Amino acid sequence: MNTFLLEIVTPEHLVFSKQVNSLVVRGVEGELGILPGHIPLVTPLQVAPLSVKVNGETITIAVHGGFVEVHKDKVTVLAESAELPKDIDLERAEAARERAQRRLQTRSKQDEIDHRRAELALQRAVTRIKVSAGKGQQ
Ligand code: ATP
Repeated sequence: MNTFLLEIVTPEHLVFSKQVNSLVVRGVEGELGILPGHIPLVTPLQVAPLSVKVNGETITIAVHGGFVEVHKDKVTVLAESAELPKDIDLERAEAARERAQRRLQTRSKQDEIDHRRAELALQRAVTRIKVSAGKGQQ
């Protein structure tokens, strides 16, 4: 059987748990494709869509930071939050995107921390909008 178990876990719940054929994640060092038998590794993830192939079908999931751990027969994604397309509230994500864009435009030079927070909020919102629209495939 040419599959491995993928589990996507957040502090709140188990978002996804299935045998899958392959997985593509955006790690901090770039895109990473994982097939069955991949060497074990642990790497931090960016805020980005993750795409997974199950029986020839591609599913995208919004993953907000965290880590991927590749074990022999199992891959675990531990993320601060993660949503399947059907669970994304598009209006909420659009409102979050506008709020973040406003903050980025009106910031003063002193508040670098707020700027970083707004950038991350914008990335989360854009990732949710892409995944919700079915455009998260890499
Ligand atoms: P917002 O400003 O709208 O709260 P956020 O990016 O600050 O967005 P997070 O802190 O990443 O939100 O997430 C908090 C919780 O809300 C998580 O459980 C996350 O899955 C959920 N969540 C956030 N935005 C959405 C959305 N647009 N649709 C569905 N669930 C969402």
